[in-house]
Parts: sequence; C-alpha cells; structure tokens
Amino acid sequence: MTQDDSHVGANFIRNLIDADQKSGKHDGRVTTRFPPEPNGYLHIGHVKSICLNFGVAEHYNGSCNLRFDDTNPAKESEEYVNAIKADVKWLGFEWDELRHASDYFDQLHDFAVDLIKQGKAYVDSSSAEEMRQMRGTLTEPGRESPYRNRTVEQNLELFAGMKAGDFDDGEHILRAKIDMSSGNINLRDPALYRIRKISHVRTGDKWNIYPMYDFTHCLSDAIEDITHSLCTLEFEDHRPLYDWVIDQLDTPSHPQQIEFARLHLEYTMLSKRRLIQLVNDNLVDGWDDPRMPTILGLRRRGYTPAALKDFCERIGITKNDSVIEMAVLETCIRDDLNTHAERRLAVLDPIKVVITSLADDHAQELTFKNHPQDDSAGTRPYTFTKEVYIEREDFAENPPPKYQRLIPGGEVRLRGCYVIKCTEVIKNSDGDVIELHCTHDPDTLGKKPEGRKVKGVVHWVSAKTAVPATVRLYDQLFNTPNPAAEASFEAALSPNSVTVLSNALVEPSLAQAPAETRFQFERTGYFVADRNEHSESNPVFNRVVTLRDVWAK
Ligand code: ATP
Ligand code: MG
Repeated sequence: MTQDDSHVGANFIRNLIDADQKSGKHDGRVTTRFPPEPNGYLHIGHVKSICLNFGVAEHYNGSCNLRFDDTNPAKESEEYVNAIKADVKWLGFEWDELRHASDYFDQLHDFAVDLIKQGKAYVDSSSAEEMRQMRGTLTEPGRESPYRNRTVEQNLELFAGMKAGDFDDGEHILRAKIDMSSGNINLRDPALYRIRKISHVRTGDKWNIYPMYDFTHCLSDAIEDITHSLCTLEFEDHRPLYDWVIDQLDTPSHPQQIEFARLHLEYTMLSKRRLIQLVNDNLVDGWDDPRMPTILGLRRRGYTPAALKDFCERIGITKNDSVIEMAVLETCIRDDLNTHAERRLAVLDPIKVVITSLADDHAQELTFKNHPQDDSAGTRPYTFTKEVYIEREDFAENPPPKYQRLIPGGEVRLRGCYVIKCTEVIKNSDGDVIELHCTHDPDTLGKKPEGRKVKGVVHWVSAKTAVPATVRLYDQLFNTPNPAAEASFEAALSPNSVTVLSNALVEPSLAQAPAETRFQFERTGYFVADRNEHSESNPVFNRVVTLRDVWAK
C-alpha cells in the first residue's frame, strides 16, 4: 500500500512551486540554497530556513546548496563556517554543493564593470553623511548625487582605482544608477561595492573592494542556477532590486525570490548580532550554553534534530509575522522524548531512608523496564538494599492537605519495589530532618497491600550502587517575552535561568551512559548527559524539559 504524503509540509511556497512545475517554468527543476553569513552561530530561526530550503529540494527531487555569504570579512570567520556546516549536518541535511559568495568575486567584479559600461552604475565620492541626506525619506524623493553623471571612462578608472587599493575606506562607493525618486528606497541608487581594505579568509589580500549584499545575493543565486530563492519577509522590498540587477546583466538564469515570515520565539532573541553580544559580555557560557537558542545550545540542552524538524512542521511557512510561544517548542521535544527516551531513576535532592526491617547486607535484584510502552527498549537490573535515598520533597513532616507521599507513620511505595512505612524521623541539632527510618511490607512486591490503599509512589536509588552526579535545571534565560526590545539585555536576564544541583544521586547505568544520551528521569523530567562535561566518573546531566508544560498556568 502506498501512502500519499503530499500534504505533509504543504505551504504557500510549495503551492507556487507546484504551479511552476505545471507551467514548465525553470524546466521543472527545483534548486534552492541556504545562504548564511558566517558571522555567528546558527539559531533556531535558521533551522526554519534550513528545513524549508532542504525540505523543498527533497520534496521535488531537486537540490539544495549550502552557500556562505562571505562578503563582509570584518565580521566573518572560519570558526563560524565550520560550526554552521556541523549544525546543518547534525540536523540531518546534506547539501549538494558547498559554495561561497567569495567564489564569485571575479565574476561579480566583471558584472559591475558591465553595469558601468552600460551607464547603469557610477562611482560616488560623497561622504556617507551626504549620501544619507540625499537619500530622501519614505515620503520625500531623494536627490541626485553631483557625481551621478560621471562618464563611463571616469567611472571605469575610479572603480579600477578602488580595486587597486588607491583609495581609503569610504572615499568612493560604486552605486547602481536607477531612480532617486523611486517610491522604493532600495531603488534609489543602491550601493553595489564598497572599499574595505581588509583581508578575507578565503581570498586573502586580493581584494580592496567587496560587493554589497543586494548585488551579491541575486547574482550568486543566478550563477548557481537557483530556481527558487527563499528568504525572509524583510527582503520583500529588495525584490525589485534583485530583479533589476539580474535583468541588466547576462546571467545564466533568473531565479525567483519568494519571501516568508521569519521565526520569532518568545523569551529569547533570534539574531546572531545580538547573540554574539551575550557571548562577548559573558552573560552566557558561550555559544553552546544550554540556554542559548543556537542550534549548538539547543543540542547541548538535549533537543533532537527530529524535535526541531517537528517544530518547523508545526509552525508552518506563511507570510504572516507571528511570535511563537516557547511551549510549542517544548512540546515537540517532550513528545519526542516521551516516545524515545528510556526511563531511569535519579534523586536530585536526596534524603536517606534506612529500612530497619531488612538485614544489613540485603541486596535484592529487581528488574525494571526501560520504557513503559516499548518492550523493545528492554530491561535493566536494579538493586534494592537496606539504605536507599528518596527525594527530600517526597517526605513531609507536616503535610499539606491531600499530600500522598511519605509522612511520619504513613506509607508509600518505592517505585517498582515494596511499600514502606515511616517509623522514625531523625533530626540534627538544628532540627533539620536528616534521615528517615522505615519498615517494609514484604508482601507488597508487585502486589497491592492487604486491606489498605497506598496511593503514593516515589522514586529512589540504592545507597550502595547510586553514583553522585551534577544535575542542572534550566529555565528561560530572559524574564521578558521580547528581550530584544529591552534597553539592556543584562537587565532582562532572568536571575534563575540555571540551578545547579551538586548532590544528586543517579542509578549506575546513568553514569555509564555516553554523553548526549537522553532519558526521562521518572517523576522529575527529561535529561541529557552533557556533551562537554559528562563522564562515568563525573556524571553531568542537563534538564531538557519538564515532564509537563509549566507555561500553561
Ligand atoms: P541574523 O540576524 O541572525 O544574523 P540573518 O538573516 O542576518 O540573521 P543569515 O545568515 O543572513 O542571517 O541567514 C541565512 C538565512 O536564514 C537567510 O535566508 C535568512 O532569511 C534565514 N533566517 C535568519 N533568521 C531567520 C529566522 N528567524 N526565521 C527564519 N529564517 C531566518
Ligand atoms: Mg545577516
């Protein structure tokens, strides 16, 4: 039986491409690209663009390039290039070709010379401030620069001088000659090339001039024979310029720019420029801090590629800007881990329980299922001994109403084990509870107790086998839904975004788990073995997400 999954991932872009396929536009070919600037680490907003570009190519049996938009050497680095490649691979996508805008610097230069020769580009020697004043506003037309009518020969000579390094940064700029009174400010003689006497990671000191985004992007797309150039809505007003540049020049193809809404996510900010500030100001522990919305941060936090892709499916692709609630993202990882993560026991804030009815050397092998709904996940041995630890908050000397956990004289079931009864509460000289003495009912293993109901079940570890561990509980980095709008990021930071528990005790199999393995710690949440710090001798776990939606209230 074949399944029709054509509706999966359907969106307005797919509808447009379907129409192109019907009309035979682009010869039925679909080629996309993901074009990051290597000026920082990718974030979850980029995941949306990656899933769209690679997803569309996959759906139509087309191809998708990874292209580094590396035209601003002052801000770009090889570290970012490598991180971006690793992120795309980790998400599970494979690019057809790896390209760099800098691969096209020679061609772009020749295109610029072509525009000059056609009288459609000129060298302006106005200062940045003068150009700003001549640009006009949304309601007022711009004014033409006094340099606008330089001859082709003058322009060619000046542009050659710019290229040769005869001038300093900002002395001249190459502009397109379009229309200073256009209602679209992007068409008021936009800059095409600027002087930047700075060396480039890939082209070294060859260039003293670098092409602007609006000139580079459309031509790179055309050179690569991209059919559908998918970008975010803020480029909608740039589309006439995108088309103008390609229309003036003899390019191999004319790609079609289509805009979609960027991802905005509550309680975080999606902008490399802003995220780099958090890193540089040491407000987080680097790009891979588990509180960062970077792909690397989400990965270290315990997110899976499947959950991130599911998230992109759920939010869809539209032309309407909207802000997505954090709960949507968390639901995706919770659903994934609920299905796929094995269950384990860990006590985050332990209190000792001595079971006085057992012999000192009692060691009873129990068998625990690794997943309640998935028998293929198998079982593991679990040792019950005279001394165990339970969660401090699972005991209350003065219980609130309806409390179903352990109280003095009360009973509770140790998860997968016996019912125990609290017979004595041991305190230190300050009056703090430091130990509980209990007896066990030997007739309650896998059986309900006779003649009474015991509702509470608590998780536990054996004092003999448990391993000390560090467990980090993460919360939102910011305490305000739109931190980017705040005057200072520092003031918007939540004071409780991480709680480090250094006395946790985990079952031995957790210590032995490889880094990046994800688990449900029963009753406490979903956790991942930290990919940087976890080892068998020093187990470190990060909470990925709570068991239930804490945003709902
Ligand atoms: P940033 O401000 O974070 O640097 P950018 O748009 O400048 O973002 P690029 O490296 O130019 O970053 O982005 C590469 C691609 O990812 C672009 O096509 C861009 O439109 C897309 N993209 C970036 N941020 C988002 C977002 N929040 N939602 C969807 N797509 C995004
Ligand atoms: Mg950018």
